[in-house]
Amino acid sequence: MTEIVKFLRENIKSEVLENEPMKNHTSFKVGGEADIFINISNVDDLVFCLKTFKEKNIPFYIIGNGCNTLVSDEGVRGAVICIYSEMNKVTVDGCILEALAGTPMTTIALLAKNECLTGFEFASGIPGTIGGGLAMNAGAYGGELKDVVLSAKVLDNDYNIIELSNEELKFDYRKSIISEKKYIVLSTKIKLEKGNFDYIDGKMKELSQKRREKQPLEFPSAGSTFKRPVGYFAGKLIQDSGLKGCSVGGACVSEKHSGFIINKGNATASDIYKLIKHCQKEVYNNFNVNIETEVKLIGDFE
Ligand SMILES: Cc1cc2nc3c(=O)[nH]c(=O)nc-3n(C[C@H](O)[C@H](O)[C@H](O)COP(=O)(O)OP(=O)(O)OC[C@H]3O[C@@H](n4cnc5c(N)ncnc54)[C@H](O)[C@@H]3O)c2cc1C
Repeated sequence: MTEIVKFLRENIKSEVLENEPMKNHTSFKVGGEADIFINISNVDDLVFCLKTFKEKNIPFYIIGNGCNTLVSDEGVRGAVICIYSEMNKVTVDGCILEALAGTPMTTIALLAKNECLTGFEFASGIPGTIGGGLAMNAGAYGGELKDVVLSAKVLDNDYNIIELSNEELKFDYRKSIISEKKYIVLSTKIKLEKGNFDYIDGKMKELSQKRREKQPLEFPSAGSTFKRPVGYFAGKLIQDSGLKGCSVGGACVSEKHSGFIINKGNATASDIYKLIKHCQKEVYNNFNVNIETEVKLIGDFE
């Protein structure tokens, strides 16, 4: 890989790292090394990397802030393309915010509040980038990105930049056309409404308080580990299976919220994965319900 790293460094402005520990780029704080890690700073570099990887048959994975991603202890053979800190910019024009894909949703929420724009309060405590948010149709407390996104500029599989409307983004529960077709989000427009600063501020504080009360934010995690199965709550099914506090190595089903698997400090990705599998098996045995992971897995686990 050293030669490719050298080649990329000679041809792009974005930072290119070799053997980069993924525990530094995921909210679970686990994961082995990625052969190549690129911190993308512009679209030309992104396209250059994608074309290079295609030509040289190198697998690649897109991440934002890694808040919904579990990387295996063996790491990533191939490249991780990170669209985060160097693609972080949000501007406002009337009621429309335009954000680059790497912009944290918390940054967008702050600007919306300061501009007295309402509608984004639900996302003010969701960690992660707006690019990752669009791929996942991130949502909380009754709101989802599909409610506020006007359009998104994405890179399709032939490296064309296309602008997709809200409808064309095909948002659904924790998915969208981005995740389905493996498009890459470059930027998005979000439409909000004129509101009142005190109301927006109050709402964000209220939701943040709820999160602190209900979620184990003091431990590394990826938020809800599992999707909500139709008609149930994953956390309740896990709790009713007697798994609250259940642990494998340093991974543990949170005592505070059974829908969260947390890293108590020394977990490996393998511990987390084994605990995920255990929860899925027990819930299925007890309730005949499959709980699918919301968390995205990168690397070898079996
Ligand atoms: C404490 C905590 C609380 C959370 N609470 C919530 C919550 O309330 N609601 C919620 O929905 N989620 C929640 N999450 C999960 C997470 O914050 C969201 O899923 C978020 O959208 C992930 O963004 P990210 O940039 O970290 O994505 P990553 O984890 O980096 O990636 C997630 C997926 O998005 C894809 N992706 C990332 N960037 C792009 C891009 N630019 N273009 C195309 N695809 C891309 C990746 O390939 C991957 O498939 C929580 C996580 C934590 C740790």
